[in-house]
Amino acid sequence: MSTCSAKTNTLAHKMTLVMTHQCNFDCKYCLQKHEDVVMPEETALKAIDIFVNGVRADIEAQKKASEEDPKASAQISFYGGEPLLQREKIEQLVEYASAKLKAIPGVKYAYEITTNGTLLDEEFIAFAKKNRIILALSHDGLAQDPVRVDRGGHPTKETVDKKLQMLLKATPGTIIMMTVHPDYADRVSGSLKFFHDAGVREVSMVLAHGERVLWNEEKFSALEKELEKVEEYYEEWNRGDESFRFIPFDNKIRNYILNRDQDRKSCHFGCHKTMVDTDGRYYPCSHFIGRDGFSYGSVEEGTDEEKLESLEKKRVEPSDCKECALRFRCRHTCACANHGHTGNMSEVSALQCEYEQLLIRLSDKAAASLISDANPKFIDRMYKS
Ligand code: SF4
Ligand code: SF4
Repeated sequence: MSTCSAKTNTLAHKMTLVMTHQCNFDCKYCLQKHEDVVMPEETALKAIDIFVNGVRADIEAQKKASEEDPKASAQISFYGGEPLLQREKIEQLVEYASAKLKAIPGVKYAYEITTNGTLLDEEFIAFAKKNRIILALSHDGLAQDPVRVDRGGHPTKETVDKKLQMLLKATPGTIIMMTVHPDYADRVSGSLKFFHDAGVREVSMVLAHGERVLWNEEKFSALEKELEKVEEYYEEWNRGDESFRFIPFDNKIRNYILNRDQDRKSCHFGCHKTMVDTDGRYYPCSHFIGRDGFSYGSVEEGTDEEKLESLEKKRVEPSDCKECALRFRCRHTCACANHGHTGNMSEVSALQCEYEQLLIRLSDKAAASLISDANPKFIDRMYKS
């Protein structure tokens, strides 16, 4: 469905279907319009057919090249709005796609849904477990109530906490997706502690961006102090038999150890990943859905390779970064982070630059301490490619 100018050896195929723009929440940083649109079934089926054909073509190409053990990995994600508003349709699509992917030898496939949690129940969690669906829960910890309110403006933490416990009982490895609103940056370490004490062992975190939020020096300084506390927790929670993945630190440490370019790992803009909007149009990443000038085809028209290439070409390294010693460890060319903060894919914001430097400094401190302890569990996690 898409090509990639930065060729890689991986045959990973990733597609995200935007099931709906509707949501039952009204989070204070959300940039979505919540229009009353859903993806028609025929659009979703067509997207899956195109996706499966691409996976099959890769396996066939490997066979033709006489590779002994052709293999590919395939992942379909369901996105929103709140994707579980389209729960029945998702269940049907998973069954449809699995029947097709199962029939291709050598393909490892899985699904992914990030949900605000309110519509989860034991039945769906069991369906997810049975059908290789990874469920990630959006939860802002101690900032959940003021920030992630429902459409009537009511707090949601109590409800979502119950869903979190339900999820953890069935899937102890459940991942939390946390977004930091600048007004509540001083709650970051408390939130991490809350998740840890609740039994969570993996948290991903991003900073809210866009016209609805305002970061300034005071708020960034609160965040810095909080992340210093998180670094201490991270050391404590990764000693002995304990393991706690804080993705912003884990990624910085692993990518350094494995000598991987941070940007190549974190920004899939146009590379082996296609976002399909409710109307069937293709976009390079979730941030650009519905934005004029960023679509490169559709399930009806196919991929506009020239357009995709021209979009990729617009994503160039910011000139201020070219001489920076940290450039291979920094997300400075991440198209959506840059566009979200500065309105330009190739311009990194002062906030993002400071944040990247902070993450590198703190993750290095944690790694130095944990590696000098020779904790086999931590070392194994970081060195495994
Ligand atoms: S749950 Fe997600 S889509 Fe819904 S309002 Fe919050 S950020 Fe937006
Ligand atoms: S954003 Fe900042 S830290 Fe990152 S490469 Fe550019 S100058 Fe260096």
